[in-house]
Amino acid sequence: MNQMSHVSSLSVPGATRATRKEAASVEFRNVTKRYGKVTAVDSVSFSIAPGELVTLLGPSGCGKTTTLRMIAGLEMASEGQILIGNRDVTNLSAADRDVSMVFQSYALFPHMSVLENVAYGPSVQGVPKKDAQAMAMEKLGLVGLTGLEKRAPSELSGGQQQRVAVARALVLEPQVLLFDEPLSNLDAKLRRRVREDIRELQQSLNLTVAYVTHDQEEALAVSDRIIVMSNARIAQTGAPRELYEEPADLFVADFIGDANILDGTLLDREGTEARVRIGGMVLTLPHRGANPGPVKLAVRPDAVLLEEGPAGDGVLAGTVRKASYLGTQVEYDVESPIGTLFVVQYGRKEPIAPGTPVSVTLTRQRGVALIPNA
Ligand code: ATP
Repeated sequence: MNQMSHVSSLSVPGATRATRKEAASVEFRNVTKRYGKVTAVDSVSFSIAPGELVTLLGPSGCGKTTTLRMIAGLEMASEGQILIGNRDVTNLSAADRDVSMVFQSYALFPHMSVLENVAYGPSVQGVPKKDAQAMAMEKLGLVGLTGLEKRAPSELSGGQQQRVAVARALVLEPQVLLFDEPLSNLDAKLRRRVREDIRELQQSLNLTVAYVTHDQEEALAVSDRIIVMSNARIAQTGAPRELYEEPADLFVADFIGDANILDGTLLDREGTEARVRIGGMVLTLPHRGANPGPVKLAVRPDAVLLEEGPAGDGVLAGTVRKASYLGTQVEYDVESPIGTLFVVQYGRKEPIAPGTPVSVTLTRQRGVALIPNA
């Protein structure tokens, strides 16, 4: 049972709603961060709209945590400008920014109860104890932990500790909420549930959220928009579907979901479309700025269609080399004249046996994209 699924129906008291701060925007203008000779973030510009959940996604070392920490004021920019709610906060310390962060480790105080952990922030800001505890109780209700407030963090499950960390970050009603790999200490099943809870809470409270992860599936699932980072720079920014269906370059095509990267030849262009030859097939696709000549294509595994039997004209002849039955889908390695293809078929009951000849076609509706910058 999703413990936080009641969040949207759970009433946030009217008075609290009325006094809730407006969600704020976040803007980076050519922000660079250097540590000695290392450039961790290199002239990065982006904005997050009020009430939007934006994920910073990328492989280890690409600069996403440094970017998040610069929003929080835990790291200072070497160059550029950072604005929160249109206020220049570039030189303000963390304490002077209206931002809260949920850390990967949760960073709960082990000697304090759940209630004391959550009430701590308002208390140190001078809110009287009773009021701080009332604020904490409200936020614990929001995350589905009412009744557990007297426990110590060590008496909670990993998922419950994560909720305490979220309640603690929410209690001061920050203008911006930051998540640093918030699911990494949870097991796979719980990760899915907690990411849904975070998304639901963010939407129901209209929070501005920046969220760091290296897990592309998690990013696709929770985000309004994703900023893909690579080597201290932004590789592409877009809605999840945009990144998956129209990757800007080979890095993004490969990093977001699985892709077969294939060689083709752009024959000619007309309007926004191009005719592209791949092996013996000719497809008509949006050209995305690519010119006639050799091109690269990203083909998603479910955009490759297999039919048992020998191939006819205009399709490719292939042979199934490997078949893995995974319940909802079957995954194949298929040898073909354009290389070994990774193929996923959904809803098929009987896998095609290895060694079977197949005809291979590509759908053009979705899942096949020319890579403009390859
Ligand atoms: P991960 O997923 O592994 O946390 P990341 O994308 O969050 O990676 P960052 O932690 O932002 O990456 O680091 C970006 C680069 O800056 C890396 O090369 C890292 O080694 C370097 N870096 C980060 N913090 C420091 C520091 N305090 N001193 C020196 N170099 C640092």
